[in-house]
Amino acid sequence: MTSSSPRRVSARLGAIAPSATLAVDAKAKALKAAGRPVIGFGAGEPDFSTPQFIVDAAIAAANEAKNHRYTPASGLPELRQAIADKTKRDSGYEIDPATTLVTNGGKQAVFQAFASILDPGDEVILPAPYWTTYPEAIALTGATTVEVFAGADQDYLVTVDQLEAARTDATKALLFCSPSNPTGAVYSAAQTKEIGEWALEHGIWVVTDEIYEHLVYDDATFTPMLSVVPDLADTCIVVNGVAKTYAMTGWRVGWMVGPTDVIKAATNFQSHLTSNVANISQRAAIAALNGGLDEVHEMRTAFDRRRKTMVSMLREIDGLVVPTPKGAFYAYPSVEGLIGRTIRGRKITSSIDLAAVILEEVEVAVVPGEAFGPSGYARLSYALGDDDLVEGVGRIQSLLAEG
Ligand code: PMP
Repeated sequence: MTSSSPRRVSARLGAIAPSATLAVDAKAKALKAAGRPVIGFGAGEPDFSTPQFIVDAAIAAANEAKNHRYTPASGLPELRQAIADKTKRDSGYEIDPATTLVTNGGKQAVFQAFASILDPGDEVILPAPYWTTYPEAIALTGATTVEVFAGADQDYLVTVDQLEAARTDATKALLFCSPSNPTGAVYSAAQTKEIGEWALEHGIWVVTDEIYEHLVYDDATFTPMLSVVPDLADTCIVVNGVAKTYAMTGWRVGWMVGPTDVIKAATNFQSHLTSNVANISQRAAIAALNGGLDEVHEMRTAFDRRRKTMVSMLREIDGLVVPTPKGAFYAYPSVEGLIGRTIRGRKITSSIDLAAVILEEVEVAVVPGEAFGPSGYARLSYALGDDDLVEGVGRIQSLLAEG
């Protein structure tokens, strides 16, 4: 195609960056398809089955003809009520079910949250390393992402001073994600409050992604943004979902909670885009949210055990700096100490290179930091079986111990 040819793919979609995870992922899949014993630390999903009582609720729902139909675009009233009840239980404040919108996963909630409040020219402050979807969702609105980086030396936690330095007259929103994907960092109540108050003072919206709320470890506690800065309610959108908490990634149920005008705009948008979330998935989500948290705590115990194993094994590797992840199910070591080294005859010049060598030489898939912001890091999910975890990190240890 020459430069004078008419454009085929739109500028907006053409600008979406291919995920840096894809190169590694495609190679891992190709190796697996060829029968190789690849161990994958790439997945952002629990390895557990969805708890049986939730599956049973879905089976019962599938047997009822009323669930073979559309639901309101905003979601089943019982699910919106369950979201309000769960918010009271887990976050400690009351919300009106009318301020909720049930979405196809937290991902659609993220996209619709940004689409509801951003215009071209607006700026969104995005703490980095960040989940790979945020900048794309922001760019699709025509707004600009302003990254604020916090490295391993500050446990991946940005400070208000850093946020303030990034603020301009065009700053419309801050994305806040704690516990964090990809770093596992968890902001304390005091840090969360300080950030929320800073946003409130400057009239900056906060989109707070609370999807990993139940996965916190050691002395860390999850702090719902609106529990510490309730006055932010009029300029805050909460994103959440059942995927990580209940091992329900495939069911595609998330939600957003926000001020009435935003929820109305997002619901109008969704009514044209995807209508409602699958009725049976919504029924399953009602069972999940109204059920207890026993299974969730069991899964967290397993994640915690794997987290400790992974962190201690990674810390045995020379050249890695491994802050203790306090939430979610990812470790995020700095691999900067390995850049410049030669491994099996290959000079490592970036974390993409390192991930490629690890995959090709010892058949272990990790996601390079480039997927989440700056180079020099790697993300390893510990949401996989204990034996695979030990085998996979063991292979990386052996490879990197070679002279
Ligand atoms: N937010 C964060 C931080 C995530 O890591 C994910 C899943 N990777 C999501 C939102 C979306 O999850 P889902 O769409 O499966 O509900």
